[in-house]
Amino acid sequence: MRAARMPRSLDVVIVGAGFAGMYMLHRLRGLHMSTRVFEAGSDVGGTWYWNRYPGARCDVESMQYSYSFSPEMQQEWQWRELVASQPEILRYANHVADRLGLRRDIQFATTVHRQVAVANTIPESVPGGESRLFPFRLGATVPPEVRLQERSRD
Ligand SMILES: Cc1cc2nc3c(=O)[nH]c(=O)nc-3n(C[C@H](O)[C@H](O)[C@H](O)COP(=O)(O)OP(=O)(O)OC[C@H]3O[C@@H](n4cnc5c(N)ncnc54)[C@H](O)[C@@H]3O)c2cc1C
Repeated sequence: MRAARMPRSLDVVIVGAGFAGMYMLHRLRGLHMSTRVFEAGSDVGGTWYWNRYPGARCDVESMQYSYSFSPEMQQEWQWRELVASQPEILRYANHVADRLGLRRDIQFATTVHRQVAVANTIPESVPGGESRLFPFRLGATVPPEVRLQERSRD
């Protein structure tokens, strides 16, 4: 457990660094909210990080599978295939993460094991894992306790 990287307090916790989590991190940064993404995998991409079987690709035109919030970013990425394959989509996810500097707020190889609704409590340690109290987890309406377990490096 690399405690130095663990924040003591955050506005929002995001679970997962797939396309949704990456976008949410970008949006919340824009709202000046302190945010941390916890991702079980070792890098961004979600579905496209995990599913690398031969022939995996999206089923819509690549352009439709791009983030549309930044016309500038849309212009600078050239899709090589009309319907992109998994490796190309993963490269795109990595490009977006690099371009927006997302990784500095993402903790990889860390699985959120549970969230428990608690109120007026202080952070506590859990043997074999780590617990933190955060005001918001996306989708939660009450202050959650989030238990984290970082796996050993590959
Ligand atoms: C072959 C294939 C083709 C597809 N084609 C299309 C398409 O053409 N168009 C389309 O719209 N969609 C398509 N999809 C669906 C695709 O899953 C979504 O488009 C999108 O990538 C989902 O993004 P997401 O961020 O919501 O979730 P995901 O990509 O699933 O990311 C979730 C992330 O959360 C992490 N995570 C989950 N639980 C925890 C936890 N407890 N702790 C820490 N981390 C956690 C996971 O490791 C994962 O990285 C396709 C999917 C596949 C497999």
